[in-house]
Amino acid sequence: MERTFLAIKPDGVQRGLVGEIIRRFETKGFTLVGLKFLKVSRELAEQHYGVHRERPFFGSLVEFITSSPVVAMVWEGDGVIASARKIIGATNPLTAEPGTIRGDFGLNIGRNLIHGSDAPETAQQEIALWFKDEELV
Ligand code: ATP
Ligand code: MG
Repeated sequence: MERTFLAIKPDGVQRGLVGEIIRRFETKGFTLVGLKFLKVSRELAEQHYGVHRERPFFGSLVEFITSSPVVAMVWEGDGVIASARKIIGATNPLTAEPGTIRGDFGLNIGRNLIHGSDAPETAQQEIALWFKDEELV
């Protein structure tokens, strides 16, 4: 069964949106197979966002994601990778559709509440980076 990696970023946690965000994936019918609350190390952040290393916002992105705890999750279901990206919405919350998480709750591209894997290969890499096998049910 397909799996994806999702992380509620520091802004989502601080704004009290953890329950609301998890509820959207639960009510859609996806299955939660891994969950943890952690403060992200610089090393983990730089690996997770390694693809953006040369982008001008890389430093502030790593600063932000390591600034306070995140909720890291693995979700399972048919088509969950693409479906979760739709539920999350466009990267920039200002252009994300209403009804999506970013469209409903976000205002700032640097504070867009949640991360979701963008393809099967990145989902696999991110799940392995954030979770040990025995942490997944
Ligand atoms: P994520 O990977 O966090 O799920 P995404 O796949 O929608 O988001 P990416 O292009 O992978 O978007 O960018 C990773 C993150 O970097 C974005 O979520 C956003 O917080 C930040 N980011 C992207 N573009 C910009 C930008 N132009 N200015 C500031 N931050 C940006
Ligand atoms: Mg991305």
